[in-house]
Amino acid sequence: MRVECARCGADNGLLVKAAGDYAVAERCTCRSPCPHCRDAGYHFKADARGYEVAVACECQKLERRARLFNQAKLPARYHAATLQSFQNTDAAKNQIRYEAYQFTNVYQPGARGILFYGPCGTGKTHLLIGILRHLVLRLGCPVRFVEFMHLLSDLRATFGDAGSAEQVMAPLVEVPVLAVDELGKGRGSEWELQVLDELISKRYNAGRTTLFTSNYLPNENGLPDRVGERIYSRLVEMCEFKYMSGDDYRRMLADQGDGGRKASAPGRNPRTMPGPRT
Ligand SMILES: [Zn+2]
Ligand SMILES: [Zn+2]
Repeated sequence: MRVECARCGADNGLLVKAAGDYAVAERCTCRSPCPHCRDAGYHFKADARGYEVAVACECQKLERRARLFNQAKLPARYHAATLQSFQNTDAAKNQIRYEAYQFTNVYQPGARGILFYGPCGTGKTHLLIGILRHLVLRLGCPVRFVEFMHLLSDLRATFGDAGSAEQVMAPLVEVPVLAVDELGKGRGSEWELQVLDELISKRYNAGRTTLFTSNYLPNENGLPDRVGERIYSRLVEMCEFKYMSGDDYRRMLADQGDGGRKASAPGRNPRTMPGPRT
C-alpha cells in the first residue's frame, strides 16, 4: 500500500529530490521522534514463546534504503523518473514497461539483465532508472548507475594511477545491479574497449546482473561493431534485448508542457528495425 506524507510529500517514508548532480533520497522525519521506537532504532516485540525481543524499527530500514539510493548515483535530471511515471500511448512501449515491472517483481540476485536499444529520446534511460529505483527503494537492493562516458572521464582523471583506477572500477564491478547508460558511445579506442571489456567480463564471470541502454542497433555496423564481437556475445548472454521505438520521447514530453527535461540535440536516428530474437 502506498502511503504519502501530507507534509513533505514523501512516498512510503522516503522523499526523493534532485541535489547537485544526483537524485537523493531522505527519510521523512515529519513525525519526529519516530513514533515506533522514539529514535532508538529498535523496539521490543513478543516472539512466538512470548519473550520480549528487540527488533530493528522500520525507520532503520528506510534509513538504509535512503543510503543505498544515495550511493546509486542516479542523475538529478531523472529524480522523478519511475516505472509508474513512464506514460506512453505506444502499445509496444507500454509492453516494455510492463516487462520492466515484471523484471523487478521476480528479480533475484544474478538475474539476467536487460539491454534497451533504440533511437535517442525514446525513454530508455527513464526505464533503466525506474527499474533501479524500484529495486533499491522497494527491495533494498544495492544498485549503481553509470553513464559510459562518465566512467571514461573518471578513469582518465586518475592519470593512469592503477590504485585510483581500481577505486573507480571496484564499486561498479561489485554492486549487485549495475546499469550502464549509453553503451557504444565514445571513440571506440582500444583503451575504451579495454575498460568496457574489463567491466563486463568481471561482472559476467561473477554472474552479476547488468542493465544497459544503447542508441546502437544490434545489427551490422551497429552495436557489435561498436563494442567488438567478444563483448557483444557476452551482452547477448547477460541480457535480454528490448527495442524502444516510437516518437521522440523528450519532444513528446515538451509538447505536453513538461519541458523540465531539456531536449538534447537530435541524435542519430538509426532506421527502425526489429530486434534480435533472444
Ligand atoms: Zn514527511
Ligand atoms: Zn523507528
